[in-house]
Amino acid sequence: MLKKLSFRQDLGIKLTLLYLLFLVPVVAATLLMAKNTQNRLEEDVRASDLALARSIAQETNFTMKSALHSIQALGEFPEVLEAEIASMETLFSTVMSARLDINLVYRLDAQGTMVFHYPSGPGSTIGHDFSFREYFIQALETKFPLISKGRISPTTNQAVATTVMPLWDNDQFLGVVATNIKLETLSQTLERISQEYDPLEGFQVFIIDSSGQIIAHSNPNLLLMQTLDYPSLAKITEPLLYGLSDTIVAMDENGVEQLYSFVPISSSGWGVVVSRPTVTSFATARAFYRDALIALLVFVVIGTIFWAGLRMLVFSPLGTLSTYSRIIGKEEIITEKQQDSLNALALRPDQVGHLTRSLINMEEAIAARFNELATLLQTSAAVVSTLDSKTVLNRILEQVERLLNVEMSAIIALNEKQGTYQAQTSRGLSQDYVAKIGIIPSDPHSITMRALRCGEPIQISDTETNPSYASRRHRARIEGFRSVLVLPLKTQYAPPSALLVFRPDPHKFTIQEIDLLSNFANHAAMAIENAALYTRSDVQLQEQTRRLEALIQSLHDGIILESKDGRVVYANRRISALANLPITEIIGNKINKVLNRILQKTSEPQKTQEKLQLARDTQGEHAIEISLPLEGRPRWLRLQTFNVNDNRGVSIGRGQLLQDITADRELDRMKSNLISSVSHELRTPLASIKGYATTLLADDVEWDSKSQHEFLSIISDEADRLSNLVNELLDLSRIEAGNLTVKRQICELGDLIKKAAQRAEPAPGDRLHINLPADLPKLEVDERRIKVVFRNLIENAAKYAGEGTPIHITATVEEKDIIIRVRDEGPGIPDDEKQRIFESFYRVDNGLARTASGAGLGLAICQGFIQAHGGKLWLESSPQGACFTFSLPRIPIKIS
Ligand code: ADP
Repeated sequence: MLKKLSFRQDLGIKLTLLYLLFLVPVVAATLLMAKNTQNRLEEDVRASDLALARSIAQETNFTMKSALHSIQALGEFPEVLEAEIASMETLFSTVMSARLDINLVYRLDAQGTMVFHYPSGPGSTIGHDFSFREYFIQALETKFPLISKGRISPTTNQAVATTVMPLWDNDQFLGVVATNIKLETLSQTLERISQEYDPLEGFQVFIIDSSGQIIAHSNPNLLLMQTLDYPSLAKITEPLLYGLSDTIVAMDENGVEQLYSFVPISSSGWGVVVSRPTVTSFATARAFYRDALIALLVFVVIGTIFWAGLRMLVFSPLGTLSTYSRIIGKEEIITEKQQDSLNALALRPDQVGHLTRSLINMEEAIAARFNELATLLQTSAAVVSTLDSKTVLNRILEQVERLLNVEMSAIIALNEKQGTYQAQTSRGLSQDYVAKIGIIPSDPHSITMRALRCGEPIQISDTETNPSYASRRHRARIEGFRSVLVLPLKTQYAPPSALLVFRPDPHKFTIQEIDLLSNFANHAAMAIENAALYTRSDVQLQEQTRRLEALIQSLHDGIILESKDGRVVYANRRISALANLPITEIIGNKINKVLNRILQKTSEPQKTQEKLQLARDTQGEHAIEISLPLEGRPRWLRLQTFNVNDNRGVSIGRGQLLQDITADRELDRMKSNLISSVSHELRTPLASIKGYATTLLADDVEWDSKSQHEFLSIISDEADRLSNLVNELLDLSRIEAGNLTVKRQICELGDLIKKAAQRAEPAPGDRLHINLPADLPKLEVDERRIKVVFRNLIENAAKYAGEGTPIHITATVEEKDIIIRVRDEGPGIPDDEKQRIFESFYRVDNGLARTASGAGLGLAICQGFIQAHGGKLWLESSPQGACFTFSLPRIPIKIS
């Protein structure tokens, strides 16, 4: 799976951002500028409307001011002050004629009653009370001229605003003189102004008095309309009446957005309002803004189209090529869609097409190289995967064929036994051809030999034309090849070999092909070399292992190795014998099972198993000692547990060593027996000697000669016993040291037995029955030693067979030996003791041995003496009693 590209790695994203970085400020700046310009244009419209309102206000202000001046001047006339009707008429008519905007001049008295008005018709209000009029009430409190609100004059029936001059004679109020200004006149002015504008623009101009009434309007129908009643107009009226001037945009009562510009008229407290629908007033500004937006939109659309084109023609192909270039050389597979877009790109005639074609060519070259490398790697893997050189070589040829598209190949090596070069392995060649390959090293026509001699590859690009191949051309034709390449394999330990490649067509192998094949040749050489080396080292290793195995297997001690999971991984023959299981059944079995089988033979298997488990559970080296009956006699074994670590100190399991320590035990027993028996055997005669000697030496008793003789003979006997014991010990030590010398002399067996019997203690007397054959030959033996043998055997029979039982000594003559038997009719020897009684210091632990004196040396000495003569001593089975049998060679044998 391809990794998604990050922003930093993707050119498309980068350029998009760059484009946005350019586009966004341009759009923003254009929008801002358009908005600003629109605002400025609007401001201009506002300013022009405000200027218009201001000029109207100024003009109206001037009119009203002059009206106020006029009324003030009028009020100063004495005729007016005194309300002289006739004079006033002249005066008023003059005023009227001078001021066309005035439609009525009148005089109210101090009570507000109409005294006179000019013109007097059509309806006269003379005598009417106008004291309720607001302006009249105001006049009572001021001495300055004032202007009333707009209203309909009852006299003229026209919309008017009145300029009023309060008349005072000092502090006495005399009434007022007033002129009604025709609001229509004002309206006409406004109408005239508004006519300058296109009626379609909806331009309006009107004046609002201090009470919020429209007192002049370009549309006279709207005169005296109360603006405060209309929320939209109230918005303008309120600030206006406060004396503020401004422009605001608000909806009128018809729902049309209007631009209102208003300016107050200072002299009268009125205000001028100029209004235009924003549709027309701001038309230019809005049109400009709209046009700017359209221009911007066009710019963005064109930019985006350009961008899309750039993306389609450049970035997208670049992306595809970049993805493709990353796939090249990896084991990723290009999708069908990617392949289609690549093919489409490759068809383009421009630079992108050129780049795509180059990449595709590059990919193909890399793939070919990869293929070569992969094949070589596989070959390397094959070389190390097995030591079977035949398999490896076959695999190498397989790869050669696949990569170079050849169908015939072979590896030829020197067969050292036959002295010819033969095919080790081959592919695609006929069996007949392969079998006939048997090149003699000195063959001058063989290209294989030439290549091997010069150590360089040699090729025949056409067997039909190459003159050096003439002698083999026929065979090449039959086999179906026309070109051959031979590569010598560089071997050091293996016999010389060569790789041969055949093609059915004339072909000149290129340097690249030869290089590639040389690599395979090297691998093949390696495989052959490996196999040769392995054969050598394997033989050595096998020999070593065999020796080691034989050593361990022959050990008298048992060895067993367990893995960490408690299973046996190795055991020797001794273990197999002890567990009474074949090795094959022991290996892989649970160690506890195998050990328990051995321990089963002990006297207390349960207890011993627990002891062993305890020892095994504790880490480190531990040993327990067990006793088992083996080969018919009890043996002591030490079971030692120890950790087994490899040469890096890593534990690979635990080992158990089963050592036969019977000999050690025996030695211990011998030592203690020696001490106890020898001390006992020494003490008894010494005590008698000491006793009788002390008795003899006693001064207070006079012993007769008979008693003295008796005592002295006892002392002598006991001294003999002592001397015998010492001799026995000496003999034993000589036997054990192996330096017993036999002094042979001719003697007669009968005599020898009799002499021995005489010296036996206890003496057998007439219990002894000697039955020897008449033709018994004389023997050449060490008389003293054989006498000791007979004496010991006779003494034992006398001691252990029970009183009064007969003792038989018989002899038989055999071809080589004389067999002598000393048999008694006593209790005999228990089966399990039959072996051990021949051990030194060993005595059977029963009542007989306890009562009879002895150190357990007799039989051991007998055996030593007889063996020194080249004979054997054993215990023969007998229905009753013990039958000690020994052999003595008739012809003395030289014992070194
Ligand atoms: P010793 O007689 O001094 O004890 P030996 O070596 O002569 O030592 O004999 C070993 C043991 O063999 C004796 O202690 C005895 O128990 C047993 N033994 C030897 N001869 C006989 C026999 N004829 N009958 C029974 N037991 C015998």
